[in-house]
Amino acid sequence: MRVAVVGAGVSGLTATKCCMDEGLEPTCFEQSQDIGGLWRYTEHIEPGRPSLYASVISNSSKELSAFSDFPYPEDFPVFLPHAKLLDYLRRYANHFGIMEHIKLGTTVVSIRKRPDFATTGQWDVVTEADGKHTSYVFDAVMVCTGNFPEPTIPLHSFPGIKRFKGQYFHSRQYKRPDVFKGKRVLVVGMGNSGVDIAVEASHVATKVTVSTRRGAWVLGRVFEHGYPWDVVFNTRLMSLIRNNLPGPLARALINYSVNKRFNHENYGLQPEKSCLVREPVLNDDLPSYILTGRITIKPGVKEFKDNSVVFHDCPEEEPIDIVVFCTGYDASFPFLEEKIVKVENKHACLYKYVFPTHLQKPTLAVLGLIRPLGGIMPVIEMQARWAVRVFKGLCQLPPQSVMEKEVNEKKKNQVKWSTKVKMWPDATCQ
Ligand code: FAD
Ligand code: NAP
Repeated sequence: MRVAVVGAGVSGLTATKCCMDEGLEPTCFEQSQDIGGLWRYTEHIEPGRPSLYASVISNSSKELSAFSDFPYPEDFPVFLPHAKLLDYLRRYANHFGIMEHIKLGTTVVSIRKRPDFATTGQWDVVTEADGKHTSYVFDAVMVCTGNFPEPTIPLHSFPGIKRFKGQYFHSRQYKRPDVFKGKRVLVVGMGNSGVDIAVEASHVATKVTVSTRRGAWVLGRVFEHGYPWDVVFNTRLMSLIRNNLPGPLARALINYSVNKRFNHENYGLQPEKSCLVREPVLNDDLPSYILTGRITIKPGVKEFKDNSVVFHDCPEEEPIDIVVFCTGYDASFPFLEEKIVKVENKHACLYKYVFPTHLQKPTLAVLGLIRPLGGIMPVIEMQARWAVRVFKGLCQLPPQSVMEKEVNEKKKNQVKWSTKVKMWPDATCQ
């Protein structure tokens, strides 16, 4: 069985290996000239590939960010600078002979069902390399193009942005803090990018303000008794509590545990109920930087003026020179017909985040479109193992109606908090 794997980041590498393990014939197409995806830091920004800032360090510990059969070297630190994570991925690819199956510098431009798809489940795949198009037929496809290809700058949500005379850009464009030297900086959005960038900016900027509409739980990488946070949170007991205790009880317990280090309400960070399903922000510095006045927290932006910004519920204007929109990313699949993987409100309609629900044959899987509580690598490996077993007919998907019900439930929970939603479920989409 021939399988096309699109992308050679974390997802594409483990997908290729899982195909090899099951005796399938994978061909992995990677548009850039090297493997590693997001974790291969470059100074220039490549279209369709996420771009990191120079100082990025993983927010999941190496123990919980390893593939099941390939631990990190002992001398690697617990949280990994991007170069170390890339080094790990290279070792993994070389150790298992994955490189032989990868075609670098080859972009997948189109994936379409073959006319006899209903009986064969096959796909026509067209690639482009050095301006030359090549067509292939594959028995199955694994889409491993990542969660972060398209930066979101929702300018329409920011009245007055057109008259703002300062500079603004998306966090994807950010590399180092020197751009902030002597400036009054506004960081919009309190995800991990926003907080990392605010902390870095505060070393050189005159003033740094973070605007957040909903707040967030902020955890330190160093958690109880000095253990990495994810080692404490991702135990069987914690998982049992998260997934089985009645909502209010579970919430109270998590509230207690995340507020032990500092009370989020006193720091203006207390998340609204609806964000309890968001992933936490991992930052050891933020609380002390707020206490020492290096970073100020404000609510959502009401409007921009020529050289300043007005926040909701704050009467005064705040002078600002430079704005970084740390407003996240959208998933996109330009090589697929829209009806194959529908993305609605940042939610891809996929059964268990992996399989489209409406294909006559389950021969297309999307990997990595998930935000687990902790490292994504083992989760993607499990997705890949499951997908190849479905391709081979060793595992069956449930009927379409059951899959659609699951997808619709997840979609509802994305936008609306209900007491039935589990506290920090083990994963959320996008
Ligand atoms: P990517 O790494 O994005 O790889 C996708 C690959 O597909 C790229 O190489 C791209 O060039 C290629 N591609 C795209 N389109 C095509 C095409 N049409 N044809 C051919 N090739 C194509 N996760 C963690 O577990 N721990 C962390 O600490 C962590 N930190 C993160 C920090 C940042 C700043 C960000 C943005 C994410 C972080 N993540 C982290 C999540 C991260 O997405 C995963 O760790 C992982 O990199 C996902 O791998 P991927 O292969 O799915 O996607
Ligand atoms: P993100 O987690 O999606 O956060 C985007 C933030 O933008 C939201 O939390 C929201 O913040 C704000 N936002 C979105 N739309 C908005 C709008 N219309 N108006 C105002 N604000 C809006 O994006 P990210 O921080 O770039 O992170 C992306 C992924 O990379 C995550 O998985 C993250 O963990 C990972 N990451 C990891 C590291 C690391 O390992 N060190 C570093 C960076 C990123 P508010 O609700 O607060 O307004």
